[in-house]
Amino acid sequence: MSHERYEMVVGLEVHVQLRTRTKAFCRCLTSFGDPPNQNTCPTCLGMPGALPVLNAEAVALATRASVALGCAVRERSVFARKNYFYPDLPKGYQISQFDLPLAEHGRVDLGGGRTIGITRIHMEEDAGKSVHDRFPGFTAIDLNRAGTPLVEIVSEPDIRSSAEAAAYLKAVREILVYADVSDCSMEEGSLRVDANVSARPRGEIAFRTRTEIKNLNSFANVEKALEVEFARHCGVHDADGAVIQQTMLYDANRNAVRPARSKEESHDYRYFPDPDLPPLVLTPAFIDEARRAVPELPAARRARYASDFGLTAAEAEVLTAERALGEYFEAVATAAGDGKVAAHWVTGEVLATRNDQGRSDMPVAADALGRLIALVQEGTVSNTAAKKVFATLAAEGGDPRTIAERDGLVQVGDESALRAWVDEVFAENPDEAALFEIGRAHV
Ligand code: ADP
Ligand code: MG
Ligand code: ZN
Repeated sequence: MSHERYEMVVGLEVHVQLRTRTKAFCRCLTSFGDPPNQNTCPTCLGMPGALPVLNAEAVALATRASVALGCAVRERSVFARKNYFYPDLPKGYQISQFDLPLAEHGRVDLGGGRTIGITRIHMEEDAGKSVHDRFPGFTAIDLNRAGTPLVEIVSEPDIRSSAEAAAYLKAVREILVYADVSDCSMEEGSLRVDANVSARPRGEIAFRTRTEIKNLNSFANVEKALEVEFARHCGVHDADGAVIQQTMLYDANRNAVRPARSKEESHDYRYFPDPDLPPLVLTPAFIDEARRAVPELPAARRARYASDFGLTAAEAEVLTAERALGEYFEAVATAAGDGKVAAHWVTGEVLATRNDQGRSDMPVAADALGRLIALVQEGTVSNTAAKKVFATLAAEGGDPRTIAERDGLVQVGDESALRAWVDEVFAENPDEAALFEIGRAHV
């Protein structure tokens, strides 16, 4: 069945773990993969009377994330208790922010004239983890993650396709990794997505009822789940039925979405300001500091690579996928004195070698590669020979000119040197030399 008649409307809620050493309100470590319940204390275990103390580093990172995502940061925000019962939430509430969040009104530019609004960014703590597959017939609780600092980034319902949802997520992740706010690893749960979706007939202005899909553990699954759920909405509208606002779970094995529970409204959580935590008041100087900590972001860097080095959009895209790769490329470009050729080498030989050898570092130091490129440019080594020198540099390091000379890879452009070599070869091979003379006489 075709759903051309309908337009997809999506808003995403992205939970990102802040890269702090300790938890949001206690000194327990946030390290991943430790034995269950090792990193806990009375505060994150929710013992009565234990008091939370806010982690300043978490506030700095959350503020930096907000600025990097174009938000206005509130000088005064308020922590609130979000009350619900769950076995992995021993306090019976999660510390979050509600009507006065840390930041609002941000935006993420996807290029091509598409911008996705960010409604709000608030700080909150993570819950623990229910482990269902460890003891048959039982559920175990691991509270290592309880109290881990998060930001929740809520987008406006501005996204119009599953591909655009993936592009938005990629852009948000890139920005936060660049800003060194989070590692955004979906495998380790430091980036989690809930997707809200609805379908409306094209041309209709009002939004229709949405559902929220949880359990999305990869960007690919976000796209697939959105398509499946969108198709279901379209089917319901075609049959003049009503979509029920509820929370859905995505089952990746069956590529299917099923209802988890009826959607609670915010009043169900009985939010109220946490009496244990004073309002969070940030000075303008603190917010400025966060602004200064935001590095050049990928979109700006791509534009600069195009204008300063004349790179294509595809080259700039590859070279800015990782912040370190961009910095490496720029160092190579400086040492080589030619950005375009440097880009060619970095996107080619460097990435291929890194890939083949499964390494995460750069196989050849930037200044050595720059000097090698300069040797090619000045005609000292050929392109083919340069690849051999590159392989040697990747294996043993060293200086490109020394390696080229040692391995006989220097290309001789100087005519007198060439003539001396030819004379030498002729002197050693008189018969061939005579044949060569005969041949030349017949030309
Ligand atoms: P809740 O607290 O119930 O999760 P929020 O106000 O935080 O609700 O909004 C959740 C998300 O739902 C936001 O990202 C918003 O953009 C998105 N959203 C709201 N209405 C719709 C809709 N009709 N269709 C798709 N997404 C929507
Ligand atoms: Mg929400
Ligand atoms: Zn603790």
